[in-house]
Amino acid sequence: MPDRIVTATAADGSFSIVAGITTDLVRETQRRHQLAPTASAATGRLLTGATLLGASLKGREKLTLQVASDGPLRGMVADVQLNSPQEIGARGYARRPEVDVPLNDRGKFDVGGAVGNGYLQVTRSFEVGQPYVGIVELQSGEIGEDIAAYLMSSEQIPSVVALGVLADPRGIKAAGGIIAQALPGADERTIGVIERRALEMESPTAQIDGGASVEDLARSLAGDLDLRFTRDYRVAFTCTCSRERVERVLLGLGEEELRKIASEQHQTEAVCEFCRTAYVLSRDEVLGLIEQLAARS
Ligand SMILES: [Zn+2]
Repeated sequence: MPDRIVTATAADGSFSIVAGITTDLVRETQRRHQLAPTASAATGRLLTGATLLGASLKGREKLTLQVASDGPLRGMVADVQLNSPQEIGARGYARRPEVDVPLNDRGKFDVGGAVGNGYLQVTRSFEVGQPYVGIVELQSGEIGEDIAAYLMSSEQIPSVVALGVLADPRGIKAAGGIIAQALPGADERTIGVIERRALEMESPTAQIDGGASVEDLARSLAGDLDLRFTRDYRVAFTCTCSRERVERVLLGLGEEELRKIASEQHQTEAVCEFCRTAYVLSRDEVLGLIEQLAARS
């Protein structure tokens, strides 16, 4: 199944459901960063959560999820934008891509153990005005529960967040998830039904591995509640880095630092932390940047 996200409302519009398959996105991220298995699972969950939340973006808005923690992974970043009204672009990385820890006592990736204690910060940038920044303490470091805690604290909305990455020794088999949120007017009985279904349903990754579509994922949570699909997105690994941006960062180092770089190295390499693309500048190009700085002052 190609990566896709669908949004839906359930029970007469009293619940919103976002369901997604992100297998290709997580595979691409694993390949670019050479993520070890536990790091893949953790980064894949954060990326999947960010991509699902990305379905609420409009226009040129952006969303960034950052985890800063004291476990071996140290932290992760995932960031999403709309490439078009029909496509969500996402990228992400782990601070320590090599981190791998033994499976937990349920035989699952010990994402909580690799993440440890810390914070989840969510930043939403709008087309104009100040970005909105929300921070919550990590609940378990398993990412799904942490995103649910963020939604509860920032939006006071009870939600169910199920995120997963399924892998075997050959690589990522499936990745995806579901986020369901109660909307104003949702009655207690419906909230109870959704919460029960969330515990009973097969995990999203097991469903995806078995051939489920994004619509099937949404149905598995909604059960008998009536479901109305509202929007549909493709998902694509997307990085916004460019040579111009790298040059801008280098210009920001200032003349003294650039002169040092030019005198010490005959070429300079800058690697994008999100996509691992390497940009190489020759000494002459670095000297050219110094000239640009001089021309400005
Ligand atoms: Zn990049």
